Amino acid sequence: MLDLFESHDSSKDAENNGTHKPIISEDELSDANVLIELKKIKEELRDQVVVLGHHYQQDDVINFADITGDSLQLAREAANLDKPYIIFCGVHFMAETTDMLTKPNQKVILPDLRAGCSMADMAKRSEIDKAWAFMQKSTNEKIIPVTYINCAATLKAFVGDNDGSICTSSNAEKIIRWALDQGDKLLFFPDQHLGRNTCFKMGIPLTDMVVYNPNMLNGGLTSEQINKAKVILWYGFCSVHQGFTLEQVHATKKRDPSITVIVHPECNFEVTQAADDNGSTSYIIDKITKAPAGSKFAVGTEINLVNRLAQEFPNKTILSLSPYQCLCTTMYRVRPRWLLASFRAIKDNKPINIITVPDDIARSSLKALNRMLDVK
Ligand code: SF4
Repeated sequence: MLDLFESHDSSKDAENNGTHKPIISEDELSDANVLIELKKIKEELRDQVVVLGHHYQQDDVINFADITGDSLQLAREAANLDKPYIIFCGVHFMAETTDMLTKPNQKVILPDLRAGCSMADMAKRSEIDKAWAFMQKSTNEKIIPVTYINCAATLKAFVGDNDGSICTSSNAEKIIRWALDQGDKLLFFPDQHLGRNTCFKMGIPLTDMVVYNPNMLNGGLTSEQINKAKVILWYGFCSVHQGFTLEQVHATKKRDPSITVIVHPECNFEVTQAADDNGSTSYIIDKITKAPAGSKFAVGTEINLVNRLAQEFPNKTILSLSPYQCLCTTMYRVRPRWLLASFRAIKDNKPINIITVPDDIARSSLKALNRMLDVK
């Protein structure tokens, strides 16, 4: 069983569990044979196992998913599952969330324990506790903490215990509005860009926002700055979405002014402002799906999703905004052979890579998760 780490460090998990070593080596089974065996074993275990797949997974994995979606869709689905095993093809914090939303007798399995999230690793519980103490000392106003779902369960527990909530990129605006109704100020972590882009869209000027950098003394802020700010953003970001640049938006528009540039709100402020549209992965999928034949899009999000959309809609032009591979390398760790290893272990009645959140952390986190799911 995997214990919860204060902040997920996937390499540490792998070392502790010894599961990063190839369980099914390339010599034992070719890629093609892995897919053949996967098809067979999935059918054999269909009454016991459900596979959830995040949109950023590679095609050879997503093809085996029973349910696909973004973090919010998968969190909602997880609460209604009834099979004893849930194999989660995504990253560590998502599997933790699934464990908290499923029943105690269900087991959540992450095919590769090294599948973490660099953004989630940018906020540790000890850093948040320290920042919170400084903020409480700096102001008498009520601060409501909101965490993006991309974080360790200990951080979800923090917001649960401090009257806060969780958000995803699909519902960030709704949750931030709720938070600012409950208190005077917002502390948003770990992704500064989602926080800034959403608050600005809601009419909060940039001058009312400050960034707390955990690598600096008191986050690099004075008590006066904390007291004056409406929004305190944590200095975290997604290394994949940070890869999209303003120059790429300008170059794309110069090449073809009729193309729609659509980006994820984890992209930085300048890129999001210069783009024609922005929204969560579900929003992007929906926009492209409903666009008429002949439409053209340059998309600023993870490359597996962009390529899949391009294949799905050959009558539309769908390109990546970046000429470079904007690949989430940690999502990419979930390979078909690790998925097969998870299935084989279940078949042998010795399941591996089970993600378990301790009860006290889960209880506090669930308060925040339920607040999120209840906000209409
Ligand atoms: S795309 Fe970014 S935020 Fe999403 S899992 Fe990968 S590193 Fe984390």
